[in-house]
Amino acid sequence: MGAGYAGLTTARRLADAGIDVVVLEAADRVGGRVFSQVRASGVRLDHGGQWIGPTQRRFQALAAEFDCPTFPTWETGRHVEIRADGTRADYTGGAPESGPGIAEYERITALLDTLARTVDLERPWETPRFAEFDALSAEEFLRTETDDKDALQRLALAVQGVWCAEPREISFFHVLFYLASGGGYEQLMETSGCAQDSRLGDGADAVARALARSLGARIRLGEPVLSIRQTQTEVHVHTGGGTVVHAARAVVTVPPAAVERIAFDPPLPPARLGWVRHAPMGRVAKVHAVYEEPFWRDAGRSGIATLYGERPVGVVFDNSPQDASRGVLVAFVYGDRVDRWAAAPDAERRRAVLTCLSEVVGERAGEPIDYVEQIWPRTGWTIGGYECFLTPGGWTSHGRDGWRSPSGRVHWAGTETASVWNGYIDGAISSGERAAREVAAALGPVVRQPG
Ligand SMILES: Cc1cc2nc3c(=O)[nH]c(=O)nc-3n(C[C@H](O)[C@H](O)[C@H](O)COP(=O)(O)OP(=O)(O)OC[C@H]3O[C@@H](n4cnc5c(N)ncnc54)[C@H](O)[C@@H]3O)c2cc1C
Repeated sequence: MGAGYAGLTTARRLADAGIDVVVLEAADRVGGRVFSQVRASGVRLDHGGQWIGPTQRRFQALAAEFDCPTFPTWETGRHVEIRADGTRADYTGGAPESGPGIAEYERITALLDTLARTVDLERPWETPRFAEFDALSAEEFLRTETDDKDALQRLALAVQGVWCAEPREISFFHVLFYLASGGGYEQLMETSGCAQDSRLGDGADAVARALARSLGARIRLGEPVLSIRQTQTEVHVHTGGGTVVHAARAVVTVPPAAVERIAFDPPLPPARLGWVRHAPMGRVAKVHAVYEEPFWRDAGRSGIATLYGERPVGVVFDNSPQDASRGVLVAFVYGDRVDRWAAAPDAERRRAVLTCLSEVVGERAGEPIDYVEQIWPRTGWTIGGYECFLTPGGWTSHGRDGWRSPSGRVHWAGTETASVWNGYIDGAISSGERAAREVAAALGPVVRQPG
């Protein structure tokens, strides 16, 4: 169940193996946390996952197979860092090379990479110092390493930007696991050659839509799964639409934080339940402002910015279409900032974001032709984004049995169960491949009916 990248991949693999499959999706569209929309201005906006990087091989392969072209993220020109006290510093390249706290920040990120290289991605609990690191929050670890306030601010923004959480909330071991899973700090943070390298011209859900077409009537939209009952021989899945599906196996691909919305009979094993209770969703809003043209490019600005202090926005990118027929800025609001900002009235939220964009590229940013917010913690069946993160102690108490081991006839997929590119679209795809292998192995050889 779930027609995000994990569910669609699982279904396709099983269908290809000759196994009957049905995908029950709560929403009225496929793609899950990847959702693109063409606006009245003619621009296609990606409200959720959007970037694809060169080492995300499974996503790359599917995009190529379904003929979904990609184009490089716009990063030409001067980027800007706006500090808590309002001072500005322009820079080019991946990250600022000088500024308050930079040397200490770089020392610590190198240390994070060194520690991440020790992580066992298939059996994380076998990692040296596993329990010691999992007992700490990222904040606790970072504060034992440094008291440099500027470096800590930079690291906090990095945690917000990657996990949409605050350093006090997330297990330090989870930080290391995730860095290892994506190939290191630079891979996660940077643009060219890294996770933010490129976008898909037809939207990041173009591949999901193509997968869905290939699965046809096997996909049933508007079918929220409310309960899953296991018998000795079957799984009975009940939806809010009144559908009951009897199957030999079920694969649940909803984010861990959404698992508790489903009633399980018998109840989930304690390890699985413990795991999902230690895995809250990150909190993020993605806000797009559309302009007649990307006017900041004429001024030599890239549109890329990092913002500190009380501002709601943490990071800005130029999200214009490849042909630059319109100018688009995307602003990310994360963690505690999204909690505060989302509670404000509509007009105030809009004013706060446009004020930040004006600080980045000038006053023209205050008058977009279109403005749209996607506040993920308020988004129907998904609850948040980008993904679930583990709170301190979660891996130690429940990882071995609760992370992705099947619960009887119920198998688990979704990006949170991936070893490689955990949290990303690529990880969702690999999780679906693994779950399909588990199910196919459990069912044994399939006898194909003639005709
Ligand atoms: C704002 C944002 C930005 C991101 N940026 C990037 C990026 O640039 N690059 C990248 O690789 N990744 C990015 N991600 C992460 C990426 O989108 C996810 O890792 C990926 O889409 C997860 O896929 P999934 O199939 O595991 O889960 P989902 O996409 O969440 O799919 C789960 C599906 O289950 C459905 N569902 C939930 N409950 C039920 C129920 N009870 N019954 C039936 N169906 C149910 C949901 O509606 C959903 O369709 C981003 C995510 C967000 C939110």
